[in-house]
Amino acid sequence: MEKLKKILLPEKDIPENWYNIQADMPNPTLPSLHPGTKQPIGPQDLAPLFPMELIKQEVSKERWIGIPEEVRDIYKIWRPSPLFRAYEFEKLLDTPAKIYYKYEGVSPAGSHKPNTAVPQAYYNMKEGVKRLTTETGAGQWGSALSFACNLFGIDLEVYMVKVSYDQKPYRKFMMNIWGAKVFSSPSDKTESGRKILAEDPNSPGSLGIAISEAVERAVTAGNTKYALGSVLNHVLMHQTVIGLETIKQFELVDDFPDIVIGCFGGGSNFAGISFPFLGLNFREGKNVRCIAAEPSSCPKLTKGQFRYDFGDTAGFTPLMPMYTLGHTFIPESIHAGGLRYHGAGVLVSQLLKDNLIEAQDFHQLECFDAGIKFARTEGIIPAPESTHAIACVIKEALKAKEEGTHKTILFNLSGHGFFDMSAYDAYLSGKLVEHHLTEKELHADLKKLNTPVIP
Ligand SMILES: *Cc1c(COP(=O)(O)O)cnc(C)c1O
Repeated sequence: MEKLKKILLPEKDIPENWYNIQADMPNPTLPSLHPGTKQPIGPQDLAPLFPMELIKQEVSKERWIGIPEEVRDIYKIWRPSPLFRAYEFEKLLDTPAKIYYKYEGVSPAGSHKPNTAVPQAYYNMKEGVKRLTTETGAGQWGSALSFACNLFGIDLEVYMVKVSYDQKPYRKFMMNIWGAKVFSSPSDKTESGRKILAEDPNSPGSLGIAISEAVERAVTAGNTKYALGSVLNHVLMHQTVIGLETIKQFELVDDFPDIVIGCFGGGSNFAGISFPFLGLNFREGKNVRCIAAEPSSCPKLTKGQFRYDFGDTAGFTPLMPMYTLGHTFIPESIHAGGLRYHGAGVLVSQLLKDNLIEAQDFHQLECFDAGIKFARTEGIIPAPESTHAIACVIKEALKAKEEGTHKTILFNLSGHGFFDMSAYDAYLSGKLVEHHLTEKELHADLKKLNTPVIP
């Protein structure tokens, strides 16, 4: 067989369905609770924020959920995305392991996030929504949703954390090109923003504040809803196009992974690459190890606790059963902005609780070192978030070498790092320092929670 570098699928092989892992999980997830009544939430509780179709997907137990033709047509801009064999990277590591990567940086916004932004904008359009609001940290999600809303004629307001708004203007320009309005958060557009500005006119903002602003606008302005780029079940499900395509691509080269790795913020790209393989574990007795790679400075999976907690700092969202560091936890400002979230999605949390997936944490300098090694062999400059997956690949590939085993390792390259040059510059010029989370810092915000740890 010809030695393929780039394993491509034709457009007709873009999946026709998303894979809903809720159909196959050995243990179902615990219900999310209303923050006031502490009773399980129902569709009516979510209706002010999300269109009904997404609420249905959130709780569906159907294994396959059809992807609308209009969404598949837009997916064609960058899907099916390529699967690469990392021959040069393997050589550098001098490992007997075969390494493959699925590259999601080929999307217009440069990451996996448009895979969910497009269907979310589509269902809102179908249900007559005229405006969406959202928050964004470093700007990856904001730009993906701007791209999607523009295609469906929906106005978008993005509340961008002030420090990023000031420090990372390029993502903002990208959002403007696709027609979105971007506000530095805290802003004077909302009650929550004005309140914070009155107390501290120089507030740097936070993701929690930005969520509060976006949610407030969605519930107070007419014909307006809210969109989230990770964590929720429907978001994770939309990302399964990544893994479903990868399974077909492995068939083309007659190979199959022993280990699947994704970096971890709220869980969407990790779920996207791993859930279809976990489905094969559950239904066909396959034995693929799936590893989530998270930053040591925000280690909810490896050092957090499984308990009910809020999704946002202000406590507006339902209480969700998840691995968390506490909703008031503010992670160190590492350069992988997309991984700085205090909790993990409910689906991934349940899978980890049941030992069906694994998690490992990696320090910032080790990740940048891995990213540079990858860029110097495979050419693509990875997003700082994605370098966590690469650090994990290196660890597993070197372990395979020590053990003398012939493993096949797959990872998701969730995005490119073209807007993160200043982070790479800081690393290369020795300005990046390692941050070590102390036991005290780790427990401070968990102690404030008044929900019990779930045994
Ligand atoms: C947002 C982002 C992540 C982290 O989010 P998940 O929902 O955990 O996938 C990872 N990589 C990139 C490139 C991102 O933009």
